[in-house]
Amino acid sequence: MQRQASPVGLGLRLRLMLTLAAVAIFPFACVAYVIVRDEVRNVTRSSDFEVHNAALAAQGRFARLLDRRQVQAVAEASSPTLRAAIRANSRSRLKHIARRNELLLVVDGHTYGRRIEDAVTARVQLVSGGETIGSVVAQQPADAATLKRLSAGAAHGVRLALARPGGTQPADATRGVTLPLAKGFGIHAYVPAGIESHRKNAAYVRVAEAGLLGLVALMLLALVLARPLLRAFRWTEEQASEARIDSLTGLANRRALEEILAAEISRAQRFAHQLAVVLLDLDRFKEINDSFGHAAGDVMLRAVSQLLTSLARQGDTVARWGGEEFVIVLPETDLAGASRFAERLRRTIEAHAVGEMKTSTSCGVATMLPEDSVDDLLRAADQALYRAKSNGRNRTETAIRGPRPAAA
Ligand code: GH3
Ligand code: MG
Ligand code: MG
Repeated sequence: MQRQASPVGLGLRLRLMLTLAAVAIFPFACVAYVIVRDEVRNVTRSSDFEVHNAALAAQGRFARLLDRRQVQAVAEASSPTLRAAIRANSRSRLKHIARRNELLLVVDGHTYGRRIEDAVTARVQLVSGGETIGSVVAQQPADAATLKRLSAGAAHGVRLALARPGGTQPADATRGVTLPLAKGFGIHAYVPAGIESHRKNAAYVRVAEAGLLGLVALMLLALVLARPLLRAFRWTEEQASEARIDSLTGLANRRALEEILAAEISRAQRFAHQLAVVLLDLDRFKEINDSFGHAAGDVMLRAVSQLLTSLARQGDTVARWGGEEFVIVLPETDLAGASRFAERLRRTIEAHAVGEMKTSTSCGVATMLPEDSVDDLLRAADQALYRAKSNGRNRTETAIRGPRPAAA
């Protein structure tokens, strides 16, 4: 069996896909804009949150480090070793103790131990026999090693920097927080500008990917659904046109004719133009059906339709009024012109044979009066047609119409 070609060609599918894509792009862009805006806001918010957390944690850690140093200093201040060294007034032992514990010992105006440049200090007094004889100074350096300890556990991307008294912020710190540590030292937490913009770009890319994926899915769906969609469109179109087109002859049907005639009448009235109609009824058509069968009658009806269409001018409307009756609307045509046209139709139909079948037609011609409705004009043509039938068929009669008497 021969397969039927797909009724939905690639061109149509592509056009449908592109149309859907074009229609969908605006709402997609709006949604993408809202998502990107929120994503960027989230990136900023979570950076701020991480930065704040890291600064707080660092502050806590530093406080603990300093506490530990201070405890060490307190312990050292009361240690028997230090006491013995002070009693013996041994400078070398005092120096040794200070170095070993990274402390500064201030005894009798002399300082022992290494002073660390950038350090936070805590001082514990040395008391002997109720008298202050000096102090033990604990030093917590504010250096790279300490910073490393403070930074432990900070979120990825968050950087910490020690802020020295009167120091400047790191060059790559856009926004950030600085919390105090001690004595003018502070801890500055920030997300470098490069990392923040990288995070924002990643958000753009995510949204763009999702948007594109959605659009592609929509287009694929259109590709898959093209056939049923177009079939549905076509079906709707057919339904609409079927309501106006006669299925046997392809001419306008009665309903369409009434609409067209109403429009033509109001146009003719507005511009004071002439308008004529010809009503045709095939003669003794029943006999054709009886002799050749109903199907042959249909063939004859189609043949007559084609004759009428071929003789009509552009702008004329040829319609099947019903059965073997036809109406032709002739805009801007007077009675004489319409009668000549009807006669030409009549002679052509009379001369035409379909196989062994021949037929003829009777014609009723009428022109519009200024106040006419569709019914008025068709009734006038029908009365003329009735006379053509009564006067022997295969002839044309014109409606004799005067101006209607004015309503009382
Ligand atoms: P007259 O000259 O008085 O008009 O005679 P007539 O036989 O044409 O008139 P009548 O109205 O008695 O019969 C019309 C015939 O047209 C009867 C009907 O079977 C036939 N007819 C109507 N519609 C169709 C159609 O769609 N197909 C066919 N084959 N015949 C139709
Ligand atoms: Mg009839
Ligand atoms: Mg007839």
